[in-house]
Amino acid sequence: MGWRLESKIVRGARGADPQTGAISFPIYQTATFKHSGLGRSTGYDYTRSGNPTREEVEKTLADLEGGTAGFAFASGLAAIATLLELFNPGDHLLVSDDLYGGTYRLFEEISRNHGLEFTYWDCSKDNLLYHIKKNTRAVFVESPSNPMMKVTDIRKVAALAKEHDLLTIVDNTFLTPYRQRPLELGADIVVHSGTKYLGGHNDTLAGFIVVKNEELGERLKFLQNAIGGVLAPFDSWLILRGIKTLAVRLEKQEENAMRIANWLKQHPRVEKVYYVGLPEHEGYEISKSQASGFGSMISFSLDSPDLAAAVLGKVRLISFAESLGGVETLITYPLTQTHADIPEEMRARLGVDDKLLRISVGIEAVEDLIDDLEQALS
Ligand SMILES: *Cc1c(COP(=O)(O)O)cnc(C)c1O
Repeated sequence: MGWRLESKIVRGARGADPQTGAISFPIYQTATFKHSGLGRSTGYDYTRSGNPTREEVEKTLADLEGGTAGFAFASGLAAIATLLELFNPGDHLLVSDDLYGGTYRLFEEISRNHGLEFTYWDCSKDNLLYHIKKNTRAVFVESPSNPMMKVTDIRKVAALAKEHDLLTIVDNTFLTPYRQRPLELGADIVVHSGTKYLGGHNDTLAGFIVVKNEELGERLKFLQNAIGGVLAPFDSWLILRGIKTLAVRLEKQEENAMRIANWLKQHPRVEKVYYVGLPEHEGYEISKSQASGFGSMISFSLDSPDLAAAVLGKVRLISFAESLGGVETLITYPLTQTHADIPEEMRARLGVDDKLLRISVGIEAVEDLIDDLEQALS
């Protein structure tokens, strides 16, 4: 349909429950569905295989990303773990070197033991070809990346991957389909931690996979049911409700983030600000060419580790907590929180050190957020 994204975001896949007209899609809180006779089914048999509320959020995500099918999981990592079952022992994946610590832990501490191989490359450079091996099957990128905000040229990577018959997988958690639609840029698969911007209220975990190709969709449907890490009906409803305000939340979050990034830049104790929306950011131009906004994630480096630690204890409106994307502004210490499982050598190379803080900017009054940072940094 020809509606703009903001309208589709509010409407969801079906707009209302086709059976009752309920504008808020009903929560089908049931594990199983009654059959009227042998060989007869309403189309629903058992909630792991299919549930109307989950289907509504899956279809909504698929529509927003421009895919043919969407799959909802109990968390972002449950989605990524299921996705990895597309591959076989001996297969090799090329992965962006700056990525969510939990994804790295899954790859290195679990999948590697099951025979998958991973190479981490600097996704902000175009040296992808150099790392492709005979057994390479896919490229996995996070863009912008966590926490260093590196930007991958998704069009270029997807085109190169296609030439070599590799799947391109993009973790789109930081920008959401409102700002970036990797499938339209040539990627094959999008994954999300729905826990973040999609849910938007720091109240539930969720994960998503969206695919373009129908055959791949069939395979993932099989894997989702066979493995079983599905999103519960109530949590599906929470994400559906969250998504309705995605556009307005993100716009306000981005506006606040731009103000805060510029404020941080002129602060004498701040050494470097990593925000994709700053024209001096390395990935600014690529970002503008492939996304319609910059998101609200900012990392910044202070001039001393002691100050970084002090800030975490002194913020009052901002909370020192993991996670991101919600309406509340959160600050984290990537070194020991999100990135504890990344080896020291890799963290040092990326710049994830004891002076680095990451803020997920929310929708509070920006003046209050800046005042809070001002007092915490003094
Ligand atoms: C949080 C996050 C994940 C993991 O998602 P969970 O919902 O916490 O399991 C994966 N990728 C990115 C970029 C994330 O921020």
